[in-house]
Amino acid sequence: MRPSRIARGALLKPPPFLYARPQSLAEALELLGKEGDEGKLLAGGQSLVPLLNFRLARPSVLIDLNLLSELSYVRREDGWLEIGAMTRQRAVELSEQVVATCPLIPEALHHVGHLQIRNRGTVGGSLAHADPAAELPAVAVALGAELVVQSSNGSRTLQARDFFDGPFMTLLAPDEMLTAARFPVTEGGRTTFLEFARRSGDFALGGVAAFVRFADGADTVADVGIAALGMGATPMRLEAAEAAVRGRTLDAVTLQEAADAASSGVDPFTDAHADAGYRRELIGTLVRRALAGVAP
Ligand code: FAD
Repeated sequence: MRPSRIARGALLKPPPFLYARPQSLAEALELLGKEGDEGKLLAGGQSLVPLLNFRLARPSVLIDLNLLSELSYVRREDGWLEIGAMTRQRAVELSEQVVATCPLIPEALHHVGHLQIRNRGTVGGSLAHADPAAELPAVAVALGAELVVQSSNGSRTLQARDFFDGPFMTLLAPDEMLTAARFPVTEGGRTTFLEFARRSGDFALGGVAAFVRFADGADTVADVGIAALGMGATPMRLEAAEAAVRGRTLDAVTLQEAADAASSGVDPFTDAHADAGYRRELIGTLVRRALAGVAP
């Protein structure tokens, strides 16, 4: 398939690029393999199009994935919920299957931008864009999701906690596409998502995604996953906070210890919206409230 030349002319803001609309995954991967660094995948366009308009991204070829219906699905396989990369965030948010098997995902997606953005934005686009303040990457890290990546040479599966490599950076090679995300089903556990943003729909100053499974017939924590967003270069697992609650009941003392561990386990930045000290305190408060919310 030969990309066609569009977007030439003074009326359009992005720099000129070639545009390709492959009809199958195989075709898209072949094109991506050929273009490498010069190619850019277009999913929902909710992050990429502004980047193009600001000329912060200058791909030679835009590879539009929107005809790849084979990458738009939700299915359960054993203990995993697999979501195709081109599945729209809003479709996932409304999926009864997702709500029943992994409610943390729709709970978090509800905070992503506005309805119009979630109608177009995709699961794969959100993960691959790797914004450290994004909700879905934090959910993937908290739950221990697996990310399926393909190129024309084959496929590999990466752990979410390894996938995010820095702000807006991942371990994806230039010829690789994220094709699916696999989340462990959380039936039998409790989950919660909390974040603080100045205005509804804004990127959050900080947030927490948490999963807790209690021991059978007891109030003690048997299994736990807690991740923070907006607290550093990538979404991060709050291991010290997890250790503070593992094997214990979620009483007031334990909750405070987890909050303190979360605050001292992050190294946030200062920007125009909040300083590092505020963010550190925020994550402690959010962790304490999140755990109190799932306590029996
Ligand atoms: P695109 O914009 O098409 O692509 C984003 C990047 O990912 C590009 O570099 C692209 O090449 C790459 N990419 C896309 N798909 C793949 C793939 N399958 N494999 C490899 N690379 C791929 N997001 C939040 O998380 N929280 C928010 O609060 C939030 N607020 C927003 C508010 C506004 C006003 C806007 C415009 C966006 C907001 N977003 C927010 C971003 C939104 O969630 C995007 O949908 C998301 O970041 C990118 O998904 P997309 O499908 O639109 O990807």
